Amino acid sequence: MKTGQINVQTENIFPIIKKFLYSDHEIFLRELVSNASDASQKLKFFASNGEFKGSVEDQKVEVILDTKANTLTIRDNGLGMTEDEIDKYINQIAFSGAEEFVEKYKGKEGAEQIIGHFGLGFYSSFMVAEKVQIKTLSYKKGAKAVQWESNGSPEYTIEEIKKKEIGTDIVLFISEESKEFSEKQRIQEILDKYCKFLSIPVVFGTKTEYIDDPKGEKDKDGKVKRVANEVPNNINNTTPAWTKKPSEISDDDYSTFYRELYPANMDSPLFHIHLNVDYPFNLTGILYFPKLKENIEVQKNKINLYSNQVFITDNVEQIVPEFLTLLHGVIDSPDIPLNVSRSYLQSDGNVKKISSHITKKVADKLASMYKNDRKDFEEKWDDLKIFVQYGALSDEKFGEKAKKFSLVKSTKNEFFSIEEYKEKVATLQTNKDDKVVMLYTNDPVEQFGFVKKANDRGYDVLHVDGPIAPHWIAKLEQSYENISFARVDADTLDKLIQKDEETPSKLSKEEEEVLKPLFESVVDKEKFTVQFESMNSDDAPIIITQPEFIRRMMEQQKMGGGGFYGAFPEMHSLMVNANHDKIQEILKTDTDEVKTVKIKQLTDIALLSQGLLKGEALSLFIDRSIEKV
Ligand code: ADP
Ligand code: MG
Repeated sequence: MKTGQINVQTENIFPIIKKFLYSDHEIFLRELVSNASDASQKLKFFASNGEFKGSVEDQKVEVILDTKANTLTIRDNGLGMTEDEIDKYINQIAFSGAEEFVEKYKGKEGAEQIIGHFGLGFYSSFMVAEKVQIKTLSYKKGAKAVQWESNGSPEYTIEEIKKKEIGTDIVLFISEESKEFSEKQRIQEILDKYCKFLSIPVVFGTKTEYIDDPKGEKDKDGKVKRVANEVPNNINNTTPAWTKKPSEISDDDYSTFYRELYPANMDSPLFHIHLNVDYPFNLTGILYFPKLKENIEVQKNKINLYSNQVFITDNVEQIVPEFLTLLHGVIDSPDIPLNVSRSYLQSDGNVKKISSHITKKVADKLASMYKNDRKDFEEKWDDLKIFVQYGALSDEKFGEKAKKFSLVKSTKNEFFSIEEYKEKVATLQTNKDDKVVMLYTNDPVEQFGFVKKANDRGYDVLHVDGPIAPHWIAKLEQSYENISFARVDADTLDKLIQKDEETPSKLSKEEEEVLKPLFESVVDKEKFTVQFESMNSDDAPIIITQPEFIRRMMEQQKMGGGGFYGAFPEMHSLMVNANHDKIQEILKTDTDEVKTVKIKQLTDIALLSQGLLKGEALSLFIDRSIEKV
């Protein structure tokens, strides 16, 4: 037996590995299983190029838990290591700069990421084990089996052992404080999390299945008996859908894989994108478009990030643009530096390229769906729009591309691209400043009266709704110089689409002065401003509106944007149609008292039509109206 010193510059590295590096101790198993799987892949490669003559048919990784001995063994039949190789790959830790790094970052967020960065994957086993053995036999001709052992101090021993099979056993003697890792349930859970799609089969003991009795024995009812049968407990699907060529898989396979990824998710995705890049970086994956619910925040973090089929994280923020985190699915790339801190990721060139590649793919997919099957795209639009709008708002490049396939829907349920719609309404709805005014409602039922008035005048009205529509509209107004949006109930039609010619008013200034206080006496002055407008005589006598500006402020404030402190007061305009016959009539009635009664009735009707007449005021109005019958 020989002893030696693991080549680290400090004696303190192991306590640091144990305590500080990974906050998640469970990843030791990911590191060891992926090393084992790498070893198998390498041997398969040597078999394929003739360097290894034996069989690689039965490559697998076995995880063996011995609860009595408190050991966990990760066994592979991969390429194994010679004594020299142990010295090179295990003893001489490539450690330049690591010491300094650890000193600087210990205990800080992100420090847990550095093990892999410095090739310390194997040493993460010391986070949970008080002693680790490597028993290994190399595939090389004449190689001798050796056992390496260390208790986590920089000292190790190495000796020859008897081992017939090529491959490596990593034996962990689980420490007292890490007892959880000698529980079957816990190990199963970790394997399910990280190794579900590993490319080499992973087997964890056996499990019991109930099958028809192979001897055909029957129970008293004459049915074949069900008997317990121990079968290997296979952890993984070694060929998940994303590793296959799109031409090899059917739509059903994509759905099945979606279920495999999200067993708890009942909804089916709208469609998917299969990513497959090998230059200038490696990336495979499948992204699914879910049906988005109104509350988009809770739906993030559904994309799983893999590196060579080893699960890394389901938190892909900073790897893909934020709006893409609304998608579901898998991204697999060996080129994302997975083990370094997240702040570093943002500035990594590969990550930037990958991120813009995915953005482009997603935009291209939407553009081609729009182009190839417009009708189908329109049918999906209501489920897609939040994603597209969110993307347009948060990613300049995506926004530029999305102009081509962003749709608006009219209240007559017709879809248009922005350009198409502009063309459609330009003739009638261009105002005196040469802007095309796009009228919209967010609630065609509640704003029915306004929509109808607009339609009566030949104007078209859009149906624009959804949680981020207000922001999206503002964005469109910025990116197209000559369009503006106005909600139908924001002002009178004459004001919403101002033309050069003005309708003359039938009320003089003096007459307005007489009527104004009377109107103000029937409403809450804090909430309503009274204005006289010269509208068409066939417009309603009174129209109650909420200015576009105030409403947008309130909406943005509700969504946490806008930057206003305190509540924005609810404000309405009470617009009196100076040209309506009823107003003229009221002006001519005798006393202020009679005038006020009539004004009250007209105002209540206007409030009622807006859903603003409530409680006692509503009940009084009803009583009054019944009396008049
Ligand atoms: P990395 O995997 O990033 O190289 P590790 O610390 O996980 O770093 O492993 C160091 C090296 O030890 C590996 O590159 C490999 O050469 C060798 N090694 C580790 N585990 C095994 C194994 N099960 N079989 C063969 N070689 C292994
Ligand atoms: Mg490794």
